[in-house]
Amino acid sequence: MLHKFSPESLMMSYGYKPELSEGSIKCPIFQTSTFVFKNAEEGKAFFEVAYGLREKEEKEELGLIYSRLNNPDLEILENRLSLWDEAEDCAVFESGMSAISTALFEFLKPGDLLLYSSPLYGGSSHFIQHVLTKFGIEILGFEAEMTEEEMIELVEKSGKGNQLAMIFLETPANPTNSLFDIEFCKGVADHFSTDEKQVLVAVDNTYMGPLWQHPLQFGADLVLYSATKYISGHSDVIAGACLGSAELIKRIKTLRTFLGNMAGPWTGWLLMRSLETLKIRMEQQAANAEKIAQYLKTHPKIEKVNYLGLLQPEDGLAYQIYKKQCSSSGAMISFEVKGGEKEAFIFLNHLRLVKLAVSLGSTESLAQHPASMTHAGIPPEDKLKYGIKENLVRLSVGVERVDDLIWDIEQAFSAIPENESTPSLTLEYAS
Ligand SMILES: *Cc1c(COP(=O)(O)O)cnc(C)c1O
Repeated sequence: MLHKFSPESLMMSYGYKPELSEGSIKCPIFQTSTFVFKNAEEGKAFFEVAYGLREKEEKEELGLIYSRLNNPDLEILENRLSLWDEAEDCAVFESGMSAISTALFEFLKPGDLLLYSSPLYGGSSHFIQHVLTKFGIEILGFEAEMTEEEMIELVEKSGKGNQLAMIFLETPANPTNSLFDIEFCKGVADHFSTDEKQVLVAVDNTYMGPLWQHPLQFGADLVLYSATKYISGHSDVIAGACLGSAELIKRIKTLRTFLGNMAGPWTGWLLMRSLETLKIRMEQQAANAEKIAQYLKTHPKIEKVNYLGLLQPEDGLAYQIYKKQCSSSGAMISFEVKGGEKEAFIFLNHLRLVKLAVSLGSTESLAQHPASMTHAGIPPEDKLKYGIKENLVRLSVGVERVDDLIWDIEQAFSAIPENESTPSLTLEYAS
């Protein structure tokens, strides 16, 4: 009888054969640089496939050669990660940035145009604006809630439509939760594609994935992750992943082999352990975030809350995109404290359970100040344009008991003086 198991049911066992490892129920850490061939003929056959000298035979898998090319901990992890996004294949990397930079390098060449969403994660934004441009790649930014027609017009006005090679977007955008429509981007990509050239759509799905948004279903070609965030979920590893069709991922893996930025076996093993609890962690985080957002919504010391679950039909396109693309409102909240940087800092400095740190998606709740921390490098006029204000605080909600989190947030708010004329408090770091 055929039964399709859900990803969460397969995270403990999928792709691993205990009989190949002394019956060990868990996949061991294959801490090895190289693999012994049974005979010279086998070594030759493996290399023919690895170097693309011949096509794989039916059911033939790439043999284990050397851990820069492949390693069981990475391969099994890649198979398991593919399940969540229903992707044909996956490539894992030693960081989210290496997944992103490798994907952009593989599919862009000098003279090509890259269309990218703004704002973007600071690292991606720097890589696009300061690294890709050094290699003669042209870039053009687009903004949240643009329609397909507006995007096409933007590209056409630039006069570089025939150079368009890729659209790279991040949705919801960090730190304001602004939304971009993946299907619109696919429409733009198809508009500028020709028989010779397929314009690709790549989505950084770190904020929502792999549980709550599946970009491939909306026509994206590549999905990218900082696996450091929800996928790892324990603030103890840096890693990244790229998913898509077998054809595209084969190209990405080939470049990864030569850049040498694959993840190591220890990272692979840690992420497999994390994946076993991925769904329950993320669901608990989202449930906590929902309660916190409801509490923040009416708080007298808050001006505005950015949280997907608070979007209303009146919000128009943003609401429609949220309803179409996301199956949860996630666990990321940002909010504007009444006042400015001073008030935001008093709040951050008084948190006791929530830690003052960048990063997101982990079991512990984290808070930070985007304008001076994660988004410090963004030009002041862009900060204003994208709502990254001096009074904005970003909160990544963890799995703690939600009453404790709300208690902590409340006591940190109470440290902010009621009115402006009160002498400023001595700032102290909460333990
Ligand atoms: C953290 C992050 C990255 C970069 O990932 P690293 O694992 O730190 O290299 C990329 N995109 C988004 C949205 C992120 O939050």
